[in-house]
Amino acid sequence: MSSLYVHIPFCKSRCPYCDFAFYVGQTHLAERYTEAVIREFQTRLPCMGDHPVFDTVFFGGGTPSEIPPDSLNRILDKVRTRSGVSPEAEISAEANPDDRVRFAQMAAMGINRLSLGVQALDNSTLRALGRRHTPADAGAAVDAARRAGFENLNIDLIFSAPRQTTTAWRGTLDRTVGLSPEHVSVYGLTVEPGTAFDRRMKKNRLPLPPEDAQAEMYEIAQEKLCAAGYNQYEVSNFAQPGFACRHNMACWDRRPYLGIGLSAHSFFGERRTWNIRPLMAYIGSVESSGAAVEGEEVISPGERRVEQVMLGLRRANGIPESLLGTIGRSTTLIPDHLLERREGRVRLTGRGLLLADLVCAKLVRSCFEITGEFTSESEKAAVMRREGRAAPTGRPTRI
Ligand code: SF4
Repeated sequence: MSSLYVHIPFCKSRCPYCDFAFYVGQTHLAERYTEAVIREFQTRLPCMGDHPVFDTVFFGGGTPSEIPPDSLNRILDKVRTRSGVSPEAEISAEANPDDRVRFAQMAAMGINRLSLGVQALDNSTLRALGRRHTPADAGAAVDAARRAGFENLNIDLIFSAPRQTTTAWRGTLDRTVGLSPEHVSVYGLTVEPGTAFDRRMKKNRLPLPPEDAQAEMYEIAQEKLCAAGYNQYEVSNFAQPGFACRHNMACWDRRPYLGIGLSAHSFFGERRTWNIRPLMAYIGSVESSGAAVEGEEVISPGERRVEQVMLGLRRANGIPESLLGTIGRSTTLIPDHLLERREGRVRLTGRGLLLADLVCAKLVRSCFEITGEFTSESEKAAVMRREGRAAPTGRPTRI
């Protein structure tokens, strides 16, 4: 099984919390960027072996719906003709609600899963998050997607926004359930370095809800979505039966994926590569050499286990107990009711899900460092880097 990720870095405006790789006001470069992506795909394809047939394709960003659907179609066409896309493939694209006039074309080209950046369904939270659309736009986007024929919709939501109350969050969840998407992703706001929110927080001008309210919002999401028939299959992800995101599952299972476009990561044969991030540097590199890989790392056996633990524990069925080694069997996290052991597997409890990043970091440290299973200083450094990526508050974060 192989997966393909295509990064489309264009956005209409800059959301104050966002640190993804994106550009505003640069869509005049969309055509040149599309050509670069197609060329990079052809150059990089051999690293995935002989003509892989992709089971999942994911257009992420940025905002894929910000560029003409014909550009996405040309990329998909090249993937189909140069390699292959399985007839049952999940082909996802992220989209903003105000791009709904493009949904019919996106469906017609074979995109069969639409992920809508809704974030909230009340005006004050949307304004606080700097979003351009209204709750009515979000509803109209869902209607437009259904009319276009999409039978697999995701709605992205954010909690812990500035001044957001639990009452407003309950309203957003109720209205989301009323829209009946097949999948809901729920992310706690994290204030990333270098963002507008980061600058406001440093000036004490970012009125985030208190930590106990943030934890309550996460628990409210779990209660409401599970009561409405969604399964929580990962810390931040809820799906109706049969609609878990196959692309994300493949990445979490550490199956091979090719990432093209600026800043995209690829993973194959225990090797991870990442692309140049600046837009013009990416385009220039592909135009001159066919590729834009900036760096790569080879994953050691110790790091592989760390990744398996950290990615696996965030999922509902957890990990085989054997992955933790001997120390894992006596971990103090089980008496703390953060982890539970069942039928040879270890998984996060409801409380553990709330503190997933902290639990993973603590577990990895106790299971690998104490047992001396690291074989080199670089492996230790890799784990510390991963711990550094964990949200200090333990709130759920986007992978
Ligand atoms: S949150 Fe999405 S729409 Fe907003 S700037 Fe980031 S990538 Fe663009």
